[in-house]
Amino acid sequence: MIPYSCQSINQDDIDAVTTVLKSTHLTQGKEVELFEEDICTYINCKHAVVFNSATSALLGAYAVCGIGEGDEVITSPISFVATSNMLTALGAKPVWCDVKLDGNIDERFIKRLITPKTKAIVPVHFGGNPVNIHAINKIAKEYNLLVIEDGAHAFGSSIDGKKIGTFSDMSIFSFHAIKPITTGEGGCVVTDNAEFAKRLKLFRSHGIVKKKLYGFDMVMLGHNFRMTDFAAALGRSQLRRIESFINKREHIALYYDERFKGNRLFSTITIPKNVRSSRHLYPIVLIPQLQCPKQEIFEHLVNSGIGVQVHYKPIYQNSYYKEKFGDTHLHVSDDFYLSELSIPCHQKMSIDDAKFVADTLLQIVQKFSHRGCAF
Ligand SMILES: *Cc1c(COP(=O)(O)O)cnc(C)c1O
Repeated sequence: MIPYSCQSINQDDIDAVTTVLKSTHLTQGKEVELFEEDICTYINCKHAVVFNSATSALLGAYAVCGIGEGDEVITSPISFVATSNMLTALGAKPVWCDVKLDGNIDERFIKRLITPKTKAIVPVHFGGNPVNIHAINKIAKEYNLLVIEDGAHAFGSSIDGKKIGTFSDMSIFSFHAIKPITTGEGGCVVTDNAEFAKRLKLFRSHGIVKKKLYGFDMVMLGHNFRMTDFAAALGRSQLRRIESFINKREHIALYYDERFKGNRLFSTITIPKNVRSSRHLYPIVLIPQLQCPKQEIFEHLVNSGIGVQVHYKPIYQNSYYKEKFGDTHLHVSDDFYLSELSIPCHQKMSIDDAKFVADTLLQIVQKFSHRGCAF
């Protein structure tokens, strides 16, 4: 099975982890700080605070800028549930904004969702393809809103040579096993705001300030969302190879682009020229007639050894949110869910693998094109 995404671990990664495992500090040692410094250098930002997941990083980012009970936050429904869940966990209300055909939030619809309760905008860089952050920042400035980017897919993505993580109040990244680089589980918040960074560190570790010799003072409510030192060591080692990872995924993606050009059964997402995508996902969008047999297409692909996935069921379609807020319908998001398939694109694939995926996919969708939907 060729998975849709997959980590790449080499001997350097293993050595980095085992060195820490043989040392005195498995956690709360030096590696976490060094990883944070490496992230700042790579992104070109002032502060990075790593967490044990991007979910806890999201909760931290939302919490330290004061998002809470009664606040509304405009965000994308085409995301992993964590983006909205952590807002809900703080008593805030996710207000879902429809997306564009590339799966990114449609900035044209943001303004009409703003109310006196709106506190922030949380866009998601779908698949690693950056959102229109300049337009979003402009709206945020006009209405005095915070912008927190869910960059779980977008570590290493950039716009005009500037990395995601340098454009807004805070950005979060995920280091889950199948994300652009990995620490097993892990995440991070980057920001240029020193006050946010300070509060994020407190939030991550019980809100405790240590005293010089012994004792401590707990100055705010916090959690234990710390990353271990062996995970941070893995992250540092992975970060050294990020350019080769992205180049490899880009190579696969460009091969697919070429193979799928002009086919009439599905479209692909065009990455703008001034943008570099981490290429975390390679989504294809089936034509409406193929929405009905999508489950069967999915099944045929998996049975052929191609590990496809669907990103995402709109968050509002989950029973928890339906019960909480009633039914939500956003046209493009609903449609995107019916049409989207993510096909394998990762740093461990060869062009032969990509050729096999492309050949098999074209063959299977062709087979179902004669059936389509009985409208
Ligand atoms: C994976 C993901 C998260 C959560 O990341 P974890 O590190 O697994 O907690 C959040 N948002 C998006 C868009 C993701 O894809």
